[in-house]
Amino acid sequence: MKYDAVIAGAGFAGMYMLYRLRELGFSAIVLEAADGVGGTWYWNRYPGARCDVQSMDYSYSFSEELQQEWVWSEKYATQPEILRYANHVADRFDLRRDIRFERRIASAAYDENNASWRVATECGETYEAQFYIVATGCLSMPKEIDIPGVERFKGKRYHSANWPHEGVDFSGLRVGVIGTGSSAIQSIPLIAAQAAELTVFQRTAAFSMPAFNRPLQGEEITARKANYAEFRERSRYSLFGVPDLAMDKSALEVSAEERNATYEAAWQGGTLIALLESYNDIMTSTAANETAAEFVRQKIRSIVKDPKTAETLCPTTFPIGTKRPCLDTGYYETFNAEHVTLVDVRHTPLEEVTERGVRTSATEYEFDAIVFATGFDAMTGAIVSVDITGRGGVTLKERWQHGPATYLGLMVAEFPNLFTITGPGSPSVMSNMMVSIEQHVDWIAECMRTLRERGATTIEARPEAEQAWVAHVNEVADATLFPQANSWYMGVNVPGKPRVFLPYIGGVGPYRMKCDEVAGNAYEGFAITTEAGLSAAAG
Ligand SMILES: Cc1cc2nc3c(=O)[nH]c(=O)nc-3n(C[C@H](O)[C@H](O)[C@H](O)COP(=O)(O)OP(=O)(O)OC[C@H]3O[C@@H](n4cnc5c(N)ncnc54)[C@H](O)[C@@H]3O)c2cc1C
Repeated sequence: MKYDAVIAGAGFAGMYMLYRLRELGFSAIVLEAADGVGGTWYWNRYPGARCDVQSMDYSYSFSEELQQEWVWSEKYATQPEILRYANHVADRFDLRRDIRFERRIASAAYDENNASWRVATECGETYEAQFYIVATGCLSMPKEIDIPGVERFKGKRYHSANWPHEGVDFSGLRVGVIGTGSSAIQSIPLIAAQAAELTVFQRTAAFSMPAFNRPLQGEEITARKANYAEFRERSRYSLFGVPDLAMDKSALEVSAEERNATYEAAWQGGTLIALLESYNDIMTSTAANETAAEFVRQKIRSIVKDPKTAETLCPTTFPIGTKRPCLDTGYYETFNAEHVTLVDVRHTPLEEVTERGVRTSATEYEFDAIVFATGFDAMTGAIVSVDITGRGGVTLKERWQHGPATYLGLMVAEFPNLFTITGPGSPSVMSNMMVSIEQHVDWIAECMRTLRERGATTIEARPEAEQAWVAHVNEVADATLFPQANSWYMGVNVPGKPRVFLPYIGGVGPYRMKCDEVAGNAYEGFAITTEAGLSAAAG
């Protein structure tokens, strides 16, 4: 059977894409590697996993009934609650009948003669569709573990992004955690609460702030729901997908007392953006940024009792905010416990995993269990893990060998009718991703509707529009401090990956307006062909 669209992935992006296409009368099928919906929230079941954008923001806005009827129990919902929500959405909108589970896509090839995509799964099925819509996620491909000897370890091994569904009991065990990014920071306090001994291996210290998580109160839920639509609209036209703070001053034009009072209020607020949006130059001025960074370092020093451990936990090698900031519950406090040890692998590098544990340049540590929280091949990893071939047999992997090039993060030249939801070059991971997912899905759905109305068969990014967009993405990033960090935003965590800034940092509001303008201008920068192969679009 030939579909209008094959959608890859049944996370929040793939589910909403299916809903929208159905609503417009398109035939669509979702192919999903897992045996359930939810994507990120299906896979990442480690202890402490929860969202760090507030639950009432980090949820779909497309259905007023859905957002009114669903009740989030906490400021930051846990992974099980978010997964329940994903399942509720799948049931409520009867999505499962068009999702094929346990179908990992191996390849997708564009057939020029039929202007269609042939999508093949690892289990040997083939699906044909006019459009191939990639919703495989920005943070779904765990980075390969680059420490030799992993297979040799005789104890239990876990990866935060592929956690056993039945959970893990660390009681009485000697546990090693490798990594100190968001997932490690969420799980370390809970693993420490069970383990007999916990050793944390840190390469780069992260800036983390307390989440001050708490149950949501009835009144605040009612108040938000009373004007949810208006609130969502403000999020859509913000910088990061949640309503912006004032940001009307430089951090350098106020006194140190005033600045510290502002930072303290932001700290107490327990959100990702409050500190970074305290002033308008924190992400653009090294001096301004340093004031916020030093504020957090002072907090770390005030929490962690051992001065040497505190200094090791203080990030000093990158501006605050240029690596994904973290929210925690008791992370720094955990290092005050007698049975918790921090190992700085910059000073004593990890050399190998052994049968008994982990060997650094200084000594061998013995463990019963090792947890790898080593992060993801972000933004491009899942996309190019599928062998995607476009016009003339060009592969996407080849096209992106020096870094991903897209037009608006939505399409790639030479790959007609292939859309990427939250692709590289779009705000994606720089935002509340629910806002970015909905914006992309709505844009793609409207584009497909327009093509159908015009009797067009293909749409493709023009190379010159793609080049101009890539240049713009870089120009905007270069005006900030982001390129200074060796972050996964820059692809640096994966050996051999080109060092380019992957998301778009111009803000979800301005980005949305640009996408709408392009569509309103007869899809400027895209080539559209009709059945007869004639160009049907300007630009
Ligand atoms: C631990 C963690 C916490 C996060 N917290 C937040 C947060 O608080 N706020 C926020 O905005 N964002 C957060 N994110 C980002 C999160 O990924 C997005 O918010 C969102 O869930 C992405 O949805 P998605 O559908 O685009 O991708 P995903 O949820 O990653 O779903 C992609 C799906 O595609 C499937 N897939 C991949 N490759 C293939 C293939 N070849 N064939 C078939 N199926 C395939 C996967 O199995 C997966 O189900 C977090 C990410 C992680 C890892």
